[in-house]
Amino acid sequence: MKTELYRELPSVDELLRLPEIAALVTREGSTAVADACRTVLSRMRTEITAGRLDRAKLPLAMDGIPSAVQSELRRALGYSLRGVINATGVILHTNLGRAPLAASAIDHIRETATTYANLEFDLDMGERGKRDVHVERLLRKLLGAEESPHTAVSTIVVNNNAAAVLLALNTLAEGGEVIVSRGELVEIGGSFRIPDVMGKSGAVLREVGTTNRTRITDYEKAINERTRLLLRVHRSNFEIKGFSEQPSLGELVSLAEKHKLPLLEDLGSGALFDLRQIGIQNEPGVLDSLDTGVHVITYSGDKLLGGPQAGLISGREDLVKKMRGNSLFRALRVDKLTYAALEATLIAYLKRDYETLPALRMIQTPQSEIMRRAEVLVKNIASANLNAEAMESTSLLGGGSAPSATLPTTAVALTCYSLSADEVAEPLRAADPPVIARVEEGRVLLDLRTVFPEQDEILGRILVRIATSQK
Ligand SMILES: *Cc1c(COP(=O)(O)O)cnc(C)c1O
Repeated sequence: MKTELYRELPSVDELLRLPEIAALVTREGSTAVADACRTVLSRMRTEITAGRLDRAKLPLAMDGIPSAVQSELRRALGYSLRGVINATGVILHTNLGRAPLAASAIDHIRETATTYANLEFDLDMGERGKRDVHVERLLRKLLGAEESPHTAVSTIVVNNNAAAVLLALNTLAEGGEVIVSRGELVEIGGSFRIPDVMGKSGAVLREVGTTNRTRITDYEKAINERTRLLLRVHRSNFEIKGFSEQPSLGELVSLAEKHKLPLLEDLGSGALFDLRQIGIQNEPGVLDSLDTGVHVITYSGDKLLGGPQAGLISGREDLVKKMRGNSLFRALRVDKLTYAALEATLIAYLKRDYETLPALRMIQTPQSEIMRRAEVLVKNIASANLNAEAMESTSLLGGGSAPSATLPTTAVALTCYSLSADEVAEPLRAADPPVIARVEEGRVLLDLRTVFPEQDEILGRILVRIATSQK
């Protein structure tokens, strides 16, 4: 009985001759369409085996084959990595790809990635050049290296900040000891843990102090002939409050210099923009650390810098030069797309064009403007099924930067009589483009700080569709 049903299924070749499927072949090519046909047929065979597809249902299923092939094609050839609307209010959301790039970065990627580029070619000399030069000249300017005090600051770029820390530790301390405070043995999301990276770098971790209090004398007592480096790690995603103590960066610099040891600071976010201007006090910038005299700093390209994923290592020329000569650098280096995006991002800083960098623009958007947009959205989706109201809330910088730095915002709170918050968040994620919201105290919150103003309209349409589909 089932064998007969299997035999009634068409062959792939027969399917390819059907006019609707032949039209798909013209668009998507025969390989992909034949694959989709095979997937659909094998699914039908499974249904027959399971007894869910019987003789009575077979004709209808056969009629549905072309449209099943079409959806299968859409599924197989559609992108998995997609743009989403970030309505979480977390500006540097690691799971959502951190900093969105500036338009100038995209233009520069396009003009250098679709053709050949002078990535490692010196156009003046007509010979092999270095890929670092493309951003180093800009960082020399931005980090004030052309005037004193940082006359000899060099920078190299690797894949991300985790790679930067690994390269710096391996170059400066392999086989020796690195002194770190117990209060700084951090884990930054996923698998970046200072003790683990230290192990991989071949350096030996020498912990000093306690979780809440470490004094400069703790560092000094731990220094011995095996010591290669002092390390300060920025507590990017947590704070130690109450009975706590930590030596100042200046004290660490003095101690390092007294013992002729380098001081490495893993800054994490590494803002090139003075956050004090916008009321964020405790997030040290790259310049603050260099001014204090830190010898080498590591920071991310896609956190507060607002550029592509990258790890930057800036510091004393001789130390950075050693890292450039380390064979690990070859394995961790970045491609021309990253250089292009980073170069464009840094040029925006040189021009003080902060508005063109989406992350900085979002940080600086006044609450009044967000409130105005939230009210428009609320008015447009007013519906009996989905209740929407504007309410005060807070946006976060995120991405392992300034844990306590929050920005006042106005969010749109959604509640629905018949659905839980998670049940409202789900169709938002299923929308095209997907909308990622925050669920807080049984409500779905949409924080427009991280929504591009040009996305407001599509967000409104998605919400109206969801509201009208709820009975
Ligand atoms: C974010 C962060 C890292 C990891 O940086 P990635 O760019 O994600 O690799 C390491 N250290 C600190 C202090 C950080 O804040």
